[in-house]
This record gives sequence, structure tokens and C-alpha cells, in this order.
Amino acid sequence: MRRPVHAQAMHGRADTPPLGVHALVFEGGWSREEAGRVIAGSARAGFDLVEVPLLDPDTLDAAMTWELLEEHGLSASASTGLTFETDISSSSADVRAAGKALLTKAMQKAAQFGARHFVGVTYSAMGKYAQPASAEQWQHCVASLKELAAIAADLGLEYGLEVVNRYETNLLNTTAQAMEMIADVGADNMLVHIDTYHCNIEERTMAAAVLACKDRLGYVHIGESHRGYLGTGSVDFGSFFQALAAVDYTGPITFESFSSAVVSPTLSNALCVWRDLWEDSEDLATHAQRYMAAQWHAAAMNRAAGVRM
Ligand code: MN
Repeated sequence: MRRPVHAQAMHGRADTPPLGVHALVFEGGWSREEAGRVIAGSARAGFDLVEVPLLDPDTLDAAMTWELLEEHGLSASASTGLTFETDISSSSADVRAAGKALLTKAMQKAAQFGARHFVGVTYSAMGKYAQPASAEQWQHCVASLKELAAIAADLGLEYGLEVVNRYETNLLNTTAQAMEMIADVGADNMLVHIDTYHCNIEERTMAAAVLACKDRLGYVHIGESHRGYLGTGSVDFGSFFQALAAVDYTGPITFESFSSAVVSPTLSNALCVWRDLWEDSEDLATHAQRYMAAQWHAAAMNRAAGVRM
């Protein structure tokens, strides 16, 4: 399948990884009008890639998405999060089957609009568990992921496991745990998806989190501690970007931010978006693209000067 022309040459520096933005920065839905505003806004803000949430794959029009990406010269990734009704680590075979069916459908849609990365909380429910993960839960997850990684490979997709904080899963709260899961699954197309918002809660340092998964790190979310404007919270982006540059990271780096100004019926409540962190999507996105490009530029200069983490 032909994929949309990569827009990096148009927007970014040649040595900068593709910079992306989550659709929910602009719109909470994916009608033609909404998708058009997301993709046009992402291109205007200087991004190379747009991340499309696929929580409800049946409602997404892949052909329309493909067309709009082509029109604006952007590429796309796809992300999702499971619920307790579709948890592939569940002790119920029926629940696991429902999760695998949903993820398969979502991956098919992602491939149809040219995505290469299928990421997010793709291994458990995205929600608060009332107990620690059991050995049985881990094994159910491993078995499900083996099947799903094979389906992803057939579709030409990398399958990302997003490491999230303890209130959103009980399975993968650190990048070291994600590396263990990937080792147990044993699939070449499975990657670690790191997110600075979650890292800031769970990991010892931002750099240590990157170094622990450097051999399988393939997707990055950049989010501030309150999920608003980058640089206005407590995340240590300097050391995080320096670690990315030090390990020669080349995958997508995607900005994620949520405010009650833009609401998704499927995602906003799951992510506990209760507050208004910003109003102006365009200003937020433009600021984030510049911030991320500048962080990468500074980190790459230090890398070139021989700085090692
Ligand atoms: Mn994230």
C-alpha cells in the first residue's frame, strides 16, 4: 500500500524525528469536517504526523482519513485504550476475545489510512484496577499479545505498549516492566511507547526511563504534568530529550494535551479531563511544535558534542 508522503522535508530539520500531535488537541470527533480541521491545523502548526484515536473503529472512515492526509502531506499514527469489557489481560476468555476483536478491527482501520504505529494502552484496560497484577493476568496478556503482534505484522504495523501510571493500569507502570512484557511475548514488531506525563509520576528519573527501554523504544508521547502547555508544569523535558538524543531515537515524538475545551465522548472521561487547561488549540499546537523542535535541537547539539547520559 502507498503511504502518504512524509512531510518532514517540508516542516522539520532533516535530523529531527517526525513530530506529531494528538487529534484531541483540535477536535473530539472524526467526522469529515472535524478530521479536516485536525489535519489542516496540525499541518499549519508545523507537525509531520497526526495521531488518530481509534477507540471506536467502526465509526472511523479510513478512506476519508487517507484522502485528507494526502491533501495536507501528513502521515498518521493510531492509538487506543481498552476498557474493562475489552481487557485482553482479563481472567475471562469472553472479555479477552472481545478485546482482541476490537484491537484487530482498529489495526485494520489504522493500516487502511497508512499508519505504521498502533500504540496506547493496548494490553489492559485503561482504568483504575483495585488490586496488583497477578501472574495469571500477566500470562493472559502475554498470550493475547502474541496473537495481536502477529496480526499487526501482517498489516505492516508496529504494536506499541504505552507505559502509563498506576491509576490507569496495574500491568505496565515502568519502561522496565514493558521490556519484560516484550521479552515474554517475543515479537519483533512490539515496541515501548513512553509518555513523559506518566514517566513523571512513576519513574526514578526521565533519563533512566529512556535508557531502560532504549533497545525497543519506538514511540514517544510528550505531555506536561497537568497535560497543558509544555514548559508550564513540572516535567523535566531537558533531560528527557537529551536521553532520547543520546540513544539515537528516530521514531515519532507526539504532543498530547487535553482540556475540557475539546471533548471526546469516548476519551475525555477515561483520561479524567476535568479541567480547562487551554482554550486556543492553534496557539497550543504551534507552541508545542516549536518547544519540541527546540528541545530536540538542543539535545542533538549536546549529543554531537559528546554528551552521554
Ligand atoms: Mn499518552
